[in-house]
Amino acid sequence: MEESLLTIKGVGPSRVKQLNKLGITDVSSLLTYFPRTYEDRSATYCIGALKQGAVGATEGTVLHIQEKKPRRGLSILEITIGDATGRLKVVLFNQGYKKNFYKVGQRLHVYGKVEFAYGSLQMNTPHIENLREGQVAEAGIVPVYPLVEGVSQFVVRQAIANWFAAHDSLPELLPLAVSQEHSFMSRYEAFKEMHSPLTVERYELARKQLAYEELFIMQAGLLLLRAREQDEQGIKMQPSGPLVAGFLEQLPFKLTGDQNRAFQDIANDMEAERPMRRLLQGDVGSGKTVVGALALLKVVENGYQGALMAPTEILAQQHYESLQELMKPEDIRMALLTGSTKNAERQAIYEGLATGTIDIVIGTHALIQEAVQFKKLALVIVDEQHRFGVEQRATLQRKGVHPHMLVMTATPIPRTMTLSIYGDLEVSLIKEMPPGRKPVLTYAVDSSYKERLYAFFEKEMAAGHQVYVVCPLVEESEKLDLVAAEQLYEELAERYNRQFGVGLVHGRMSAADKEAVMDDFYKGRIKLLVSTTVIEVGVNVPNATIMCVEGAERFGLSQLHQLRGRVGRGSTQSYCVLISDSRSEESWQRLQVMTETQDGFVVAEQDLLLRGSGQLFGLAQSGLPDLRLANILKDIDLLVAARQDAKRWLSQVGFEVGVAQMKPELMRRFGESFQRIIYS
Ligand code: ADP
Ligand code: MG
Repeated sequence: MEESLLTIKGVGPSRVKQLNKLGITDVSSLLTYFPRTYEDRSATYCIGALKQGAVGATEGTVLHIQEKKPRRGLSILEITIGDATGRLKVVLFNQGYKKNFYKVGQRLHVYGKVEFAYGSLQMNTPHIENLREGQVAEAGIVPVYPLVEGVSQFVVRQAIANWFAAHDSLPELLPLAVSQEHSFMSRYEAFKEMHSPLTVERYELARKQLAYEELFIMQAGLLLLRAREQDEQGIKMQPSGPLVAGFLEQLPFKLTGDQNRAFQDIANDMEAERPMRRLLQGDVGSGKTVVGALALLKVVENGYQGALMAPTEILAQQHYESLQELMKPEDIRMALLTGSTKNAERQAIYEGLATGTIDIVIGTHALIQEAVQFKKLALVIVDEQHRFGVEQRATLQRKGVHPHMLVMTATPIPRTMTLSIYGDLEVSLIKEMPPGRKPVLTYAVDSSYKERLYAFFEKEMAAGHQVYVVCPLVEESEKLDLVAAEQLYEELAERYNRQFGVGLVHGRMSAADKEAVMDDFYKGRIKLLVSTTVIEVGVNVPNATIMCVEGAERFGLSQLHQLRGRVGRGSTQSYCVLISDSRSEESWQRLQVMTETQDGFVVAEQDLLLRGSGQLFGLAQSGLPDLRLANILKDIDLLVAARQDAKRWLSQVGFEVGVAQMKPELMRRFGESFQRIIYS
């Protein structure tokens, strides 16, 4: 498959150069250069049946050829063709030289968009095929490839067609039993169908088969990764002892059933021979931090160190504070390490981690710096994993010797989806909310409600509660959005500042300034917080009872759900108000979902249906490769089947054979991401 392109008939050095521009470097990358779309030239209509505005194919005899030159530098070649049902004008611009290509009386097959101009049917620069006496157009379903400047469809089409003409097989990739079970066509046929489908049905089968193949390879990769880690010797922990027990005793509340179960899963993992690889999934406010704290205590109890990495300073800070509150300082030595940690303190923390005088470190990306070294790191917790790449997670892991790993996420990912993104992790789920939580009453309104809303803010603040107001921030127009946020801030500050204290945080503030405002809000000195960024409101302020989101239609449902999760954390009734002046029916439907459910999973599923997965997971950042043919939304069934099959196959052939068979393809398709995770 790494065959040179030069082996293909009609492809010489200059064609190779053109193909290279498309990223096509060898036969295998040529064959996986799939069409962007297809033109269906298989149905040819008579001229009278052509529909205006539609794209279609027809045939006719040339009646008349005329070149017009309405002005300098513009030549228009008009070829009129006709059949028994009507006439069609074929128009070519600046191709006067083609005048002699066509002759009156000759038959042409044309494919293009049908328009109506100057009283007659017309096609501008259609695809034209000369038909010899008695010949039918070869037409059919024609592939259309994504191109760049200087490369034509013809170059790609011809190279691919010529390769297929000279070959009649391709090495199979999937295990034979799997292919048979699914009644797959040969790989050769499947690829051929992708490039020149015989029928729409055959194309669908081929696409599905190759999408399955892609998913199978990826899942096999993830399973191999898991298997490799299974081979690693973990740091075996003792059954939970006095630190954990004492912590549970002095906790001001009882763990929920789900929290208990999650910690049991974690404890079992950490007491086993193999390193833990677990995803802790729970809606915002479901109480993941306490579970994480228990895991950390467990390693400390065993004489090891633990690290918790959060995506922002504020989140790290918040975790640090709540853990300090939860744990007795005399038992645990804890440190906070972020980008803004002062140099002297930073050095002290490095030292403490390297010598083992610090048990637990909470931090941001600062934790994965070279200089950070641990004496005995046994547990890595990553909060809000989707904001970190696989690579960053791996870097922190490498600071210990096969440490246990716990990933915490509030993004409620439907179970099947976790397979493709976190295929290498076991999952614990917290579905149950701590007792006493009231559902957050949610309303979707337009801005004509503002006055009433402001009166409502006032009432809540007068009762001692706090309010978040979030304005959307879209990257492309950060400046404009900032202006909008500042205006809103001024408006609200003028109204309330004297009485309640109003603050503004936005993405362009320095970390320290942000911190200061957040701290004021946290401590209650500020009652109303205007914010442009979603991230900065990742804080826990149980006293906040209103979350108001401006321009709500510009957020994803899952984002809105995250925002809503910032209120309703205490026992008082909380509210979420979504303001939108959108006129789109669809926007209101989406906002309606928010008013109707509190269940993050339902929200996520709706979001997936309405917006696609990339938005939800930030897949680009997840570190996993893009899929070319498979769509994790639409091909969920394929994904589940591929995972099951891959699992069964690997258990039959074993790890060594699995690696041997999959490695070349894993490397080729998913390149670096798997190289790092599997073979690092
Ligand atoms: P998240 O899952 O979003 O990280 P947190 O861990 O921040 O949620 O918990 C949200 C709030 O719920 C915190 O104030 C925490 O103290 C509280 N909490 C957690 N577990 C319980 C429980 N079992 N009973 C009562 N309150 C709880
Ligand atoms: Mg949290």
